[in-house]
Amino acid sequence: MNMEVVSEVDYDVIVVGAGPAGSIASYELARAGIRIALLEKFTIPRDKPCGGAVMARGLHIVRGKIPKRIVEQMIHGLRFVLPDGKEAQFKSDRLIGITVFRSLFDEFLAKRAEAAGAELHENARVVLASTSEHHAQVKLRNGDQLEAKFLIGADGVNSIVSRSLGLRPKRKNPFRIGLGMEADFHVGHEGVMEATRGDPSILEIIPVDGRISYGWMFPKKEHLAIGIAGASVHMHPLRPIFESFRKKLEARIGIDLKTDKKRTYFLGGDGILGKNYTRRALLVGDAAGFVDPMMGEGIAYAMRSGQLAAAVIKRCLDQDLYLEKHLIEYQALCHDEFAANFAMAERAALKGTSFAESVLIHAQALKMSSELLAALARGEIGYSDIPALVVRNLPREIPRFVRTTIQSRILKKQ
Ligand SMILES: Cc1cc2nc3c(=O)[nH]c(=O)nc-3n(C[C@H](O)[C@H](O)[C@H](O)COP(=O)(O)OP(=O)(O)OC[C@H]3O[C@@H](n4cnc5c(N)ncnc54)[C@H](O)[C@@H]3O)c2cc1C
Repeated sequence: MNMEVVSEVDYDVIVVGAGPAGSIASYELARAGIRIALLEKFTIPRDKPCGGAVMARGLHIVRGKIPKRIVEQMIHGLRFVLPDGKEAQFKSDRLIGITVFRSLFDEFLAKRAEAAGAELHENARVVLASTSEHHAQVKLRNGDQLEAKFLIGADGVNSIVSRSLGLRPKRKNPFRIGLGMEADFHVGHEGVMEATRGDPSILEIIPVDGRISYGWMFPKKEHLAIGIAGASVHMHPLRPIFESFRKKLEARIGIDLKTDKKRTYFLGGDGILGKNYTRRALLVGDAAGFVDPMMGEGIAYAMRSGQLAAAVIKRCLDQDLYLEKHLIEYQALCHDEFAANFAMAERAALKGTSFAESVLIHAQALKMSSELLAALARGEIGYSDIPALVVRNLPREIPRFVRTTIQSRILKKQ
């Protein structure tokens, strides 16, 4: 037991940012009876540049209880388009995720936290954060100051909390930070069906010509979410790269893609390398850089890190533990759950399209590939489990693999 004196504060925990990470952390803490202020700089619902694919791993965290009106498409597979135009498709009978509009999905999570007892403050932009021996403090743009026993920085990729607390440098590293552009194109139901060849349950990943980067087309009910992303150093000039990607996609799917609402954005990085805790404060989600370096997927990691942060802070509050060393456990938990995955994803991302060409095209011939993908998306395995699972399951697959390889060679010769 730490006998340090804790002065009177406004809240037990201040959470900065009502994205998936902050809202999940707030929900978990509020339902344990902990006094929470959830501060969001915009009014809710707020817009967020995102493909809007929420993997099943994330859905498990809300126990699948997503209102139907929020679900745009149920997702069962992934299709990778390779630089030579060939495709590798993986489809499972099991649900691997859903697509959503982030404004509605994030609103649902924020209101869920509020219903559990968190005090949701909209238009509450934090401009400075600090911690001391006795409390954590944030200063808002309107001049208000709030104090709490703990602070959670859930304020996304440009996190003011992480920079104020010295956990991240003021300037972004262009080699580690992602940069991209995206838009939701309204094409109507017919357009979605045409663009997806009648199967809107598939997320499509498409290379960007001449760049170490990738693009995507994610189907919604009446929209296609289309975007490109890559390490910031490879993404200049951004607008022309996006335009040429859009035109190439138009030709591929045979549909006009028109919008005036393109959004430029940064994508988080180096979460596992960075320190995500300090005295009385933790970073979660994009603020901590928890984004898959290969796929750019971050929603499920944001939700899970919010859950882990809540568990560690709850334990500290229960036992009156307020020193930096009491929060190390959070770093360790995130490391255990995410590090191997991120390291493997980073190695694959560095290989760029050569990874796709050398691995995916062969992998699609294996029945187990789709099931491994589903298990990954559902959080039943991590990337790092794949090699062992392949070795274990390969003998069963060999006859089928040989058969399909021979068949495809014969077809090619005809
Ligand atoms: C273009 C793009 C496409 C993506 N597509 C996908 C995808 O399809 N699937 C996927 O899993 N991931 C995707 N990602 C990643 C995903 O969007 C993020 O990983 C995820 O949103 C992280 O959630 P978060 O809660 O940590 O941060 P955010 O969702 O960014 O939420 C942070 C919140 O903090 C608020 N805030 C910021 N600063 C302050 C402040 N000073 N004071 C108060 N509030 C503040 C913001 O307004 C925001 O509401 C994509 C990212 C981008 C950029």
